Amino acid sequence: MAEETIFSKIIRREIPADILYQDDLVTAFRDIHPRTPTHVLIIPNTLIPTLNDVKAADEMALGRMMTVAAKLAKEAGIDEDGYRVILNCNQHGGQEVFHIHMHLLGGQPLGPMLS
Ligand code: 5GP
Repeated sequence: MAEETIFSKIIRREIPADILYQDDLVTAFRDIHPRTPTHVLIIPNTLIPTLNDVKAADEMALGRMMTVAAKLAKEAGIDEDGYRVILNCNQHGGQEVFHIHMHLLGGQPLGPMLS
């Protein structure tokens, strides 16, 4: 059984976070150290440590993460200029919290992906 992270406590509202969206499948909240004017994390409510652990049964939640990203981008007014979504996996991907999360980044030009 995978070990819970701080994100499970955010989902259960046991610690403070600026939650922008929550439903039965996913939760979205502002990153505590924003890298861009809009920096939101979108996570499944069930604990999936890395993208390597995803199962077919998780597809609904993963799809919902996408639709919520698009909805929140629109609400933030960054949909037309554009934005980036990133999902880091393990050490080379730079993953620090082992509860998968999609970063929604925008509000400024982001440049080439790996610069
Ligand atoms: P990773 O490098 O794992 O893809 O990104 C983890 C992200 O989670 C980082 O951007 C970090 O700032 C954010 N983060 C870590 N702990 C907390 C927390 O307690 N609250 C919030 N809102 N964000 C967090």
